[in-house]
Amino acid sequence: VSLEIRAERLRNRLEELEADSVILSAPANVRYITGFSGEGWAIVDSQTTLITDSRYELRAKDESPDAELIVRTGSMKGPVAEYLASCGAERVGFEADHLTVSQRDEMAEELGEIELVPLKSLLRVPRMTKDGEELAILRRAIAVTDEAFARVAEWLEPGINEKELALEIERQVLLAGGDKLSFDTIAASGPNAAHPHAEPSDRKLRGGDVVKLDFGACVDGYHADMTRTLLLGDPTDKQREVYGIVLEAQTRAIEACCAGMGGKELDGVAREVVKAAGYGDSFGHGLGHGVGLEVHEGPAVSQTSEDTLEAGMTVTIEPGIYLEGWGGVRIEDIVLVTEDGCEVLTGAPKLHFD
Ligand code: ZN
Ligand code: ZN
Repeated sequence: VSLEIRAERLRNRLEELEADSVILSAPANVRYITGFSGEGWAIVDSQTTLITDSRYELRAKDESPDAELIVRTGSMKGPVAEYLASCGAERVGFEADHLTVSQRDEMAEELGEIELVPLKSLLRVPRMTKDGEELAILRRAIAVTDEAFARVAEWLEPGINEKELALEIERQVLLAGGDKLSFDTIAASGPNAAHPHAEPSDRKLRGGDVVKLDFGACVDGYHADMTRTLLLGDPTDKQREVYGIVLEAQTRAIEACCAGMGGKELDGVAREVVKAAGYGDSFGHGLGHGVGLEVHEGPAVSQTSEDTLEAGMTVTIEPGIYLEGWGGVRIEDIVLVTEDGCEVLTGAPKLHFD
């Protein structure tokens, strides 16, 4: 039912887009409109047409029973042009932020008289607000992530290295019900945690380390994304201080987050806390991002965001402080924006000091 509504909404925009039809090529957009998770394009006009190849034929029938299916044997452009010509299309929209220049040029040549209209961020806004079906799936992905974290946190100890730690996280995500990882797992210890996006190394965990874990389970195409920072052993004063500031920044942002607030404004709430504590220069990235069929999608929650939060949006809140040579702390939850606040969907525990 959700799929029909999503496709119908896009159909209703064709007039305003001044196009007879639109070609969807970005995998997340194809999936959003058709439910199809394999490789292929979709054309939306008065109906929805899915063009894939034999590798995904059965999957397409299964996932998108309502779409007209074209199983191509040669290149994509041939059947696309043939279909568009058969329905007398004159102006056809395409995803300007996804198709490569060569793909566009080759398509234009194949289409002859049919005009290609570049469309930017075609489904960015509709996808920002999640429907009930999407929320249910995202909640499952987050629950899997929480469960994997609980198992890993119990298991990890000094002596194992970051790659082993990342592997264990990935193993537990799959065992807990994840289809795959949402992105390359970050497992950074000690000074390596100073890199916001560290890659797991051979470094062995030692007592006294900060250990930063950023990972997520992908379930039915929806991406969980969570960061937890652990301490191996009794916290030092510095670790208490930095962790406490990051947690305070995150807590304030979660308390402030609600529909109607600007993404920039929400970023500012957390950034103020970090700045006031004297670590403003050590929080270089944005506070958060929308999350769903892509790990990073709209709305932006950053200093440059022009988005306004609305009920039904799912965003991360992930302040961090990174100090070269010392390490870093980031704490990241996914929240669901509601009319008068937000619901924290991530359930994994955080550290609390007295
Ligand atoms: Zn993350
Ligand atoms: Zn994130």
